[in-house]
Amino acid sequence: DVITVQELSNRMAVRGVDIIKFLMRQGVMLKINDVIDNDTAELVATEFGHTVRRVSDADVEEGFLAADDHDDHLEVRPPVVTIMGHVDHGKTSLLDALRSTDVVKGEAGGITQHIGAYQVRLQDGGRITFLDTPGHAAFSAMRARGANITDIVVLVVAADDGVKPQTAEAIQHAKAAGVPIIVAINKIDKPGADSTRVINELLQHELVAESLGGDIQTVEVSAKEKLGLDELIERIQLQAELMDLKANPDRTAEGVVIEAKLDKGRGAVATVLVKRGTLKRGDIVVAGAQFGRVRALLNERDEQLTEAGPSTPVEILGLDGAPSPGDAFAVVENDARARELTDYRQRVKRDKAAVGGAAAGVSLTDMMAKLSAKKVSELPLVIKGDVQGSVEAIVGSLDKLATDEVRARIILSGAGAISESDVQLAKGAGAPIIGFNVRASAQARAMAEREGVEIRYYSIIYDLIDDIKGVLSGMLAPIQ
Ligand code: GDP
Repeated sequence: DVITVQELSNRMAVRGVDIIKFLMRQGVMLKINDVIDNDTAELVATEFGHTVRRVSDADVEEGFLAADDHDDHLEVRPPVVTIMGHVDHGKTSLLDALRSTDVVKGEAGGITQHIGAYQVRLQDGGRITFLDTPGHAAFSAMRARGANITDIVVLVVAADDGVKPQTAEAIQHAKAAGVPIIVAINKIDKPGADSTRVINELLQHELVAESLGGDIQTVEVSAKEKLGLDELIERIQLQAELMDLKANPDRTAEGVVIEAKLDKGRGAVATVLVKRGTLKRGDIVVAGAQFGRVRALLNERDEQLTEAGPSTPVEILGLDGAPSPGDAFAVVENDARARELTDYRQRVKRDKAAVGGAAAGVSLTDMMAKLSAKKVSELPLVIKGDVQGSVEAIVGSLDKLATDEVRARIILSGAGAISESDVQLAKGAGAPIIGFNVRASAQARAMAEREGVEIRYYSIIYDLIDDIKGVLSGMLAPIQ
């Protein structure tokens, strides 16, 4: 179910330009006819004083009815932050350094175990949840599964190295997800550090730093020397305040699985992030295709909890098997309901496996059907080419195909082989992948097959443009 900025503006009776301005302040660049993803639309709606009633596909298909969370039940919740950036720019070091800023660290409660996420407790009583799985793979894997759990991306850029390919990729992922970015310019302790250069390089990716009159917050830090961490935390809090993050704690819990494993002694152990409601010991939980009664709740300090509210990561014991990262979890009223749901999900999983994942996949033909049925007005695409020049030429030609009714929307474009990260991004955005004079890596190919993401290869620009034109006009010739 997609909605454009224009439709959202109509529904809320708010000027489109005001929505666009608000989005820009969040670091999201959208035009009036662009499709806005659910999380961002929700953010906008909340910002303009509307109560959001969201019914996800999963809810509908499984007979849930998302409860209406009235404004007066909503309470401020901690932001959920993911750290992204180029390899070796200091993501892991920064996560470690931030972990040590926890004000309760000196006491028995220091963060002792890795559960895939941790919450830092701040001087002023606030909290920030960090997903402790750095890297784009985790971020887009979650997104590909419809689990947009990150509120804010902290983009780490090493001051002595500048913007690198994975930095650019992280920017594209964050933008595609509509998640605001805060830039942490790391390694400022190093002799070659040059944050001005970093800020200038970010301009090429349409991230305009506040120091240049833009709205992207940048902070100089050193994960190694633990410099600038307080300021980074302040910036995150400021951004969170702007976003007015809220959830209803007084309902049965729902959330997302972050990590899961089978432990010899403890059985299935899953770390979940509660999105709304409060998860309690003794609750009956369905997580992906697994279920069970929550026997124990443990936090990153290895403390036993009796309950966990919104934005809290907790390890749960008691599931009958390990769910997958990105799986949704929800508390259900009784065992019978839990069995019914897990049976259903296992059946869906089997069915999907039987047809090679195509059921939930994305292909040009599927997209054409949706365009013809006027279910969508945009064709999302991921374009990878051998050289930047040809990619630009393709994107330029595709732009020219836009009509009042339909157009191609380029989710990601770039030079280089098709990677797993491209497939994940494509899956998350429902976009087929177009490869021009490039191939996919073996892993990317396997993943695309598994996830049902179509990859089409071309070596002649004209053929490519012609096919997309065909899709947009509902007349693509079937693949031989
Ligand atoms: P990741 O690949 O992004 O997770 O990067 P790491 O956190 O593993 O850091 C890569 C290397 O950079 C390691 O050798 C770190 O010790 C070093 N490093 C990280 N942060 C800093 C910093 O602020 N200053 C300096 N001098 N080195 C750092």
